[in-house]
Amino acid sequence: MPEAPKILSDSADCIDGIVVENNNKVLKFIEDVTADADEVQRRVLSQILSRSANVEYLQRYGLNGCTDRETFKKVIPVVTYEDLKPDIERIANGDTSPILCSQPISEFLTSSGTSAGERKLMPTIEEELGRRSLLYSLLMPVMSQFLPGLDRGKGMYFLFVKSEAKTPGGLVARPVLTSYYKSSHFKNRPNDPYTNYTSPKETILCLDSYQSMYSQLLCGLFQNEDVVRVGAVFASGFIRAIQFLEKHWSLLCKDIRTGTIDSKITDPSVREAVMKILKPNPKLADFVEAECSKGSWKGIITRLWPETKYIDVIVTGTMSQYIPALDYYSNALPLVCTMYASSECYFGINLNPLCSPSEVSYTLIPNMAYFEFLPVTRKDELTGSISGPTALNDKEKQQLVDLVHVKLGQDYELVVTTYAGLYRYRVGDILRVSGFKNKAPQFNFICRKNVALSIDSDKTDEVELQNAVKTAANQLLQYEASLVEYTSYADTSAIPGHYVLFWELSVKDSTLIAPSVFEDCCFTVEESLNSVYRQGRVCDKSIGPLEIRVVENGTFDMLMDFALSQGSSINQYKTPRCVKYAPIIELLSSRVISSYFSPKCPRWTAGHKQWCTQN
Ligand code: AMP
Repeated sequence: MPEAPKILSDSADCIDGIVVENNNKVLKFIEDVTADADEVQRRVLSQILSRSANVEYLQRYGLNGCTDRETFKKVIPVVTYEDLKPDIERIANGDTSPILCSQPISEFLTSSGTSAGERKLMPTIEEELGRRSLLYSLLMPVMSQFLPGLDRGKGMYFLFVKSEAKTPGGLVARPVLTSYYKSSHFKNRPNDPYTNYTSPKETILCLDSYQSMYSQLLCGLFQNEDVVRVGAVFASGFIRAIQFLEKHWSLLCKDIRTGTIDSKITDPSVREAVMKILKPNPKLADFVEAECSKGSWKGIITRLWPETKYIDVIVTGTMSQYIPALDYYSNALPLVCTMYASSECYFGINLNPLCSPSEVSYTLIPNMAYFEFLPVTRKDELTGSISGPTALNDKEKQQLVDLVHVKLGQDYELVVTTYAGLYRYRVGDILRVSGFKNKAPQFNFICRKNVALSIDSDKTDEVELQNAVKTAANQLLQYEASLVEYTSYADTSAIPGHYVLFWELSVKDSTLIAPSVFEDCCFTVEESLNSVYRQGRVCDKSIGPLEIRVVENGTFDMLMDFALSQGSSINQYKTPRCVKYAPIIELLSSRVISSYFSPKCPRWTAGHKQWCTQN
């Protein structure tokens, strides 16, 4: 298997030469693994299975130490998280026997996908950190082919850690990026010009989101002329930083002017790290103040950080809703989506990073995991829903396609087998084949299966929404009112975005229902939604209060007429529980009688409900 290139170590004078040499090694690595994709995949599977020959899960299905694809596909089922839950719970409760993986489970990564309202727990092993580092190390050499000189400036990236919890068995459970930023792979990374960030690691590792954001912005503003690229993981996070700046620029300017740090920043390690960078700079403070106090924030990024060449954020999938805001703040700098990854596994990278967001495709790196693909078809273009088998029968299992055999233009659900102990696991992402790099396919990210609403990393499915709405609507019964129909949409016209529910009611006397009743309904829906949604509301403030808009009677009949006029079949028509199509949202909005917002934040605590939290 081609060797992963080693990350640079520092060497004073010949740094340029080393950068070029390293870039070439990385590009050659990509050429090699993509040219040899099928053989690399075969070896990855064989390696995973031979290492895991003794694990309970594989023995349960009678794999008997076989490491070939044919036997593996014949005997091992294609599964979802729910299938693995009993095994995962055993590990969480402290069973250290080799249940899924022969290597010790080092921690759980808490995914933004949920199960029974709580984040899914993905077991991981220490060596996966190396695999994640490998994928990161590919990004800048690829980027440098298109934009030279990036090694001579800094990146202003807004990166954050989130709170972590301990499982009853004592394993840490935290999001994958928190795990990565706290690891020595990130904290003690070698002095590499491509990982030279304006944010000192102490500011990233600070759990208090205000202090972390403030200090990262302060350092970013102070080093504004060095910044050649800016970013965050997802577009929503970057926009949050700009909005924080809108609110707090005068305080930040005061600190830049005096070379001190505001007293609200109390974390000693953050203060110390920032004070190593900050010096009084009244000229810079005047400049930032002048730019921020101009009425318009159009182009604020290029105004404050004039050397910026691009914004590095994910805007594929649901994040595409933030593209107009990013274009506005940056005067349409290129938006670059570099990679596609998850808690289960890091998957692939974008080899053409300057392409437009609508054309982004990710090349899966064949040595990250063993990949299979389940063909799916689009059911309903109007609502964007996806149809694919839920539980797979034998015939459907046969349909799973290997990496090099996917067909151009076809949609698939991604299925992975990982070094950390997931076997034929359905990730839940729908991908479309857009081309090939050598033998390795490239994919457009189409959507996440079964997600009705999403603003940030929250993913709310129809069933969850239905249950939440039902619980809330029960509160109307005492006022002789009931819910006739409903639908929803993610409103991102203002940031933070928020969930909107359109409700059509049957009501005897609407004057008997006080606004506070509907506000309570909003709150009840929020309380019933999953923990990622509630964390976004409470902790990150990345989701605004949920809104109920009551519509005139007959509105949902009009919605049906509209759908029929667009070609839906009357026999098959069902009210969509989530709408994205602008004309439908316009129709619903034109019929709104009154609207109500959730008056307070729902409850949220770190970790699963039943665990005690660490932080
Ligand atoms: P998590 O498990 O919380 O880390 O979330 C992983 C999920 O985020 C993936 O399965 C995708 O649904 C989504 N995701 C990750 N990277 C991208 C990307 N580049 N474009 C669109 N969606 C992404």
